[in-house]
This record gives sequence, C-alpha cells and structure tokens, in this order.
Amino acid sequence: MVLYSMKMRASRQENGQNQHISGAEKILAEKELGENAAALLSRALHHAKGRADFINLKIEATEPDEITYIDALPVSTFHAATPEDGQQAICKFLNKLGIQNAAAIMHEFKNTYAMRGAMLLDADTLERLEPDQERGLRATYMDAAHTPNRQADDCKNHFQEAIVLASKVVHAPHIIAEICMSDDPDYVTGYVAAPSIGYMRITRLKAMGCPDGGRIFLYRGPHEDVPACISYLENKKVLVRNVPSTPQAAWTADSWEPLKKNLEQRQRAKLYRKMKTIDTPQCAHIAVKGQDLLMLASNNYLGLIDEARVKAAAISAVTSYGTGSGGSRLTTGNLFLHESLETHLAAFKKKQAALLFNTGYMANLGIISALGTKHSVIFSDELNHASIIDGCRLSQARIIVYRHNDMADLEARIRSAAPSSGLIVSDAVFSMDGDIANLPQIMKLAKKYHLLSMMDEAHATGVIGRTGHGIVEYYGLEESPDILMGTLSKALASEGGFACGSQLLINYLRNTARSFIFSTSLAPASLAAAEMALSVLAAEPECVVRLRNNTRCFCRTLNEEGISVKTDSAIIPILIGDEGRAMDIAQRLFEEGIFLTAIRYPTVKKGSARLRAAIMATHTESDLIAAAHKIAAIIKERTGDK
Ligand SMILES: *Cc1c(COP(=O)(O)O)cnc(C)c1O
Repeated sequence: MVLYSMKMRASRQENGQNQHISGAEKILAEKELGENAAALLSRALHHAKGRADFINLKIEATEPDEITYIDALPVSTFHAATPEDGQQAICKFLNKLGIQNAAAIMHEFKNTYAMRGAMLLDADTLERLEPDQERGLRATYMDAAHTPNRQADDCKNHFQEAIVLASKVVHAPHIIAEICMSDDPDYVTGYVAAPSIGYMRITRLKAMGCPDGGRIFLYRGPHEDVPACISYLENKKVLVRNVPSTPQAAWTADSWEPLKKNLEQRQRAKLYRKMKTIDTPQCAHIAVKGQDLLMLASNNYLGLIDEARVKAAAISAVTSYGTGSGGSRLTTGNLFLHESLETHLAAFKKKQAALLFNTGYMANLGIISALGTKHSVIFSDELNHASIIDGCRLSQARIIVYRHNDMADLEARIRSAAPSSGLIVSDAVFSMDGDIANLPQIMKLAKKYHLLSMMDEAHATGVIGRTGHGIVEYYGLEESPDILMGTLSKALASEGGFACGSQLLINYLRNTARSFIFSTSLAPASLAAAEMALSVLAAEPECVVRLRNNTRCFCRTLNEEGISVKTDSAIIPILIGDEGRAMDIAQRLFEEGIFLTAIRYPTVKKGSARLRAAIMATHTESDLIAAAHKIAAIIKERTGDK
C-alpha cells in the first residue's frame, strides 16, 4: 500500500518578519489524507500564536519499502523541583552514557535557542557538525505507526510527537543522545533521550513563561559518517511503533517510590505486617525465641499436626514416594496417594467425587473461576474469605454481595438480578467471626431459583457437626450443597484444598480449573498426613467433643469476666475496635505468654480490629481458664488507658 507523507508549516508576517506559527507532519494512508489535511489546516488557522497567513501543505507519495519501522523508546519521568534540578538530571543522564563534559554541553544548549533546527554536536570534542549552523538540522519524515482507521486528532499531542521525534533521532547512525526543550512558553517539560537508556521526561527544564527552546543531537563517531547521519535524519521515512498516548501510562524513573510510600502509610496506620518466628511444632504450647507461650491462634484445631500416627504416615510416604510429585496432576504428578485421598474425602463428605488443589486458596480460585461464566451471577456473603472474593474476581460472572448471613437480603438480590444461572457461595464457618452460615435457607433459595450452592468448610471440617464432618452434619441435613470446598491445612493438619461434589462437577473442574491444571500437585508427605488425619478423626470422634468442651470453657470464663464473646465453632472473636489498641493488647498478651493474633483491616473492616482466639482439642481446661482471666485483665487495663 502506498503511504503519503504530509507536512504542514504555518507562519505569518508580523512587522515585516516571518513568524513561525505551527508545524506538523504525518505518514498516512490515502483514505486518511482528507481528514488529516483538514485537521492540520484547522490547527494552523486557529493557533494560540495567531492566525497563519501562509500555510504550506506538502503531500508526497512513499513506497512501502522506503519506510523503516522502529519501536518507541521506553519512557521515564524525572520530577524536577527547579530548572536547575532538571539540568542536573540531564548531566547525570549524560554521565551515565560516558559523556565527560556534560556541563559544557548544557552550556552549548543555550546557543541553540536562536536556531530553527537542532545543533549536531560531537559529544567529546564539542565540535559543531551541521553544515548550516544558523539554521541547524531538522529531523523530518516520521509519525507514530497506527491503524489506518484512527481518528485525525486535531488537538496536538506534544508528548506523542516528542517521543516519535526522539525515537527516530536516537536511531540515527552515531547519535548517542538528544536533549530537547520546547519554545512554547507554557510548556516547561523537556526531555533527554538515548538509545541505551530511553526517553526521560524532565518535568521542569525552564521557568513558566520562558520562550526559550532548543535541541541538541549528540554525535560520537567518525566525521566522514556525518552526511549519512544527516541524510537519515532529514530524509529517512520512519514509523514508530507502540507510542504511548500519555506519560501516565509509562513507568517512572523511581518505580519503587510509590511502594515505599505505601509501606510508610501502612506503618503510620498501624497496618504494617510483620511475622513472628515459631521454633516448635504448632501445639498448645509453643516457643518463640526461647519464650514459652500458650498458642491461642492456631487453626490446628484437633492438634493433629504433632500427632504420632499422622507424622509417621508422612514420614513413611516420603520413604516410599520421595519428597515431591514432579508435575501437575494432568502430566506426571498423579500419584496413587492423590487418588486415594480423593476417594477418602468424597466418602467423608458423602459426595460422589473429590478433587485436590494445592491450597484452600487455590481451590476457591479454581472452583469459582471455572463455574462463574459470562452469563452467570455469583451471590457472595459480604464476610466471605478473601480466596472466595478473589475467585469471584477471576471469574467472568457478575458478582453480587449480600449482607452477612442475611437470607432476606439474599433472596431480594436474587429476585432483582433474576439470573438464568448462578451460584450462591458462603463460608460455612466465617473465619473472622466464627458464626455459621444459614445453610438450610441457602439451599432452599438455591433450589427455588435454580442456582448452585457452595460452602467453604475450611473452619468447619473436623470442627462442627457431632463427629466433625462439617456443616451438613451440623444441621442434620439429608441433602448437601452442590459443592463442598475445604482445606487440609486446618483441622486436617496438612496442606492442600479440595472440592467435593458430583462426578460431573469434578470432571468439569479437572478440565477447566486453572489453579488445578497449571500447578505441580501436592507432595507425598502432605497427602499421607491428611489421609491419616481423616482416619484418626473417624476412629476417634471424641477429639471433636474435646474441642467443643474446650471452646465452651474458654467462652464461659471470658463471659464471667464481663468480656462478651460467643461462637458456634472453635473461632472466638474478641472485639477491640481500634487497630492500634488491638495490636497493643496482642503485644501485652505476648509478653504475658499468650500467643493471640490481632486481626485488622483489610482482613476485617476498619475499626473492627479484634483478637481472634482459636481453640484446640489439645488445650487443657486449666490453661484456657488461666488464659481467659489474663486476657480479660489486659483488655481492661488497656481500655482503661484510653
Ligand atoms: C484458610 C481458609 C482458606 C484457605 O485455605 P488454605 O489452605 O490456607 O489456602 C479458604 N477459605 C477459608 C474460609 C479459610 O479460612
């Protein structure tokens, strides 16, 4: 396809002098010529500098093979406080290129203000190399590569035009850098560009209102090549690909600055996160830096992490199968242990089939994003776990959040959305509040409106229901939700997540859940530990009773102390409110030998920071009672402070 170079120069006579008004150039397809000519004429006739009385519009045909395509330089921004600051940034930039006399070059730059074109300067000897030193050199015949259907933009984009020019210039033979400042009195942003570093905007290179402007091309090479360089700049037709439309879209010189600021802000708001290192297994008593602490925050509800049979099973799996699985389930990573555990889980949850994921988080991501198709709607409780929220975000479905465990609100939202297909998803036990989803009602609504239902049983499995089978057992239901999701990482003392449901559902997830497909499968030790934990739970359901009795004992003691708490699970939120105070209390408790974590925004709402106690079957009643008294005392002491 033949392309056309279009150039416009506009000027006017004023006091016998020829004053430049505006200039622009483009490389266009034939059908774009009319519209663009009109846009450039309009620019010349309605310019802030005055109305042109002479307009030269030149259009030349160009064969496609005369055109060179190059990529736009990467853009960075230097935020200069003053013009001197900006000039210093240029000197530093030049130093990085190995140019010694940056200061002298900046001095030369002033001599370009009177020139129409650019100065071509030997970067090392400072010799002027352009043949006409009064006029200077002009780089022409260039444009941003674009699809021929773009709109002729009649408002001039300084930024894009500068990038196009700089990209062409620094691709010239032996040009190592360009420095530029606009003569527009209102435009104080300049730039320095080099092929090796890119295009650096300098946000302040002169004072507002200053009419100076100039341009230097820095040359390093044999002088007999100068004519070739000039010929490229003045005649070679260049289209620049991937020109960004605004500087905001590009990275900044100090890309880390916003991250640093973000962390400082978190620190000020007492939201900065740090970790404590534990030196022992996660039992009722742990050690941190030699200090003995009562663990009151672990998800190891049944204490199986340090159980002899569970550990032996993991060790034996390592002995038999090694330490890793070597691939994703669909390639080389499907061991006998994976299939056996899936069978066991499906039976435990009374479902046809099960599918393992590497974590509970990944299970929610995979399940929800696979089920949430474009035309479906997901109804999600406002207090659902972050992994459910992320799964929803990753799906293509419309997301509707309903008020926490509010079935009237849920039904109203279903009615008004009137989806043709969709999913209701909820934590079974809410991880920060310890309360239990209204599953009977959720299932009723799901049936009534032909939706799927899904429960996240991370804190339900091994905890609620008479024998720890979870929420279906807790409510004594005959039927169960379509999808029971869970994790192996809490009561089951291992790591990994799972989905249980119909064979059809599991086949579908195996084929579509990306967090299942594209990740190396669980390692033998994790699989064997979880399977043994399930067996221990089945053989000794009294551990669930112990957990429940412990939880009651702890709550009762706190309530006797006037600290109001309640729970239906093994999670006990002790509401504090203020983030700073919650952190303070957790720290005081730590000093007193109680490991209890403060939960803050964004895990819970701002101003609803809390201590989140989690009880284990392996706690002793006397430990729990003593801890409850201590907690009450410290809360009272710290609340009295305020
Ligand atoms: C912990 C948890 C998860 C994530 O499980 P992991 O195995 O830790 O990734 C998912 N949902 C809920 C409700 C949880 O509490």
